Amino acid sequence: MVLPAKRFVDVGGRPVELHVRRSTRVNGHRIVVRYGFPPEIVVRPRATDAQIDAAIATHLEWLEKQLEKAARPRLGLERLRLTEEQGRREAGARISLIAQSEAAALGVTFERITVRDQRSRWGSCSSKGGLSFNWRLVLAPHDVLDYVVVHEVCHLVEHHHGPEFWRLLERRRPGYRDSKRWLDDHGWEILAYRPPLSIAA
Ligand SMILES: [Zn+2]
Repeated sequence: MVLPAKRFVDVGGRPVELHVRRSTRVNGHRIVVRYGFPPEIVVRPRATDAQIDAAIATHLEWLEKQLEKAARPRLGLERLRLTEEQGRREAGARISLIAQSEAAALGVTFERITVRDQRSRWGSCSSKGGLSFNWRLVLAPHDVLDYVVVHEVCHLVEHHHGPEFWRLLERRRPGYRDSKRWLDDHGWEILAYRPPLSIAA
């Protein structure tokens, strides 16, 4: 058990607290900037302080841009009046259609679809074949929602993120990288969307 370490970095003249998380699941290092969370650098378990500082130093300019971006919403969702109930209904309908046709194309079946209010994930696929999705995907462009559904349906064939999985996904959706990038860039805005309370009929 390693305590979360922190680094204070000067980003464009402003002190920024960067959390350090150690993981075996990262190659080299990765910096994650999510709205409402402190920026985080993910490094290999045995990374030394000097390696961490060097990694941060090479990404300072990028980090500055990301922090600026994360502080400035651009989708205009604050003007939207979609309630959670409306969002869940629409998400469920659109997701079901895509999941059914994609499962049929791949010759697999799934248990059921659940639409949830998740804080940090877009979708998941259980070992029993249950698919669950974040209702906020309804706020994303259709291609992005489509990508997340196809991603999870592909997990019914390939359960892990190995090369076979990405090959299958690429075969089903050759442009999936654009959608993945869109989620990296704008996902935080969608997660931050606060729906108005249900409108009285
Ligand atoms: Zn996956």
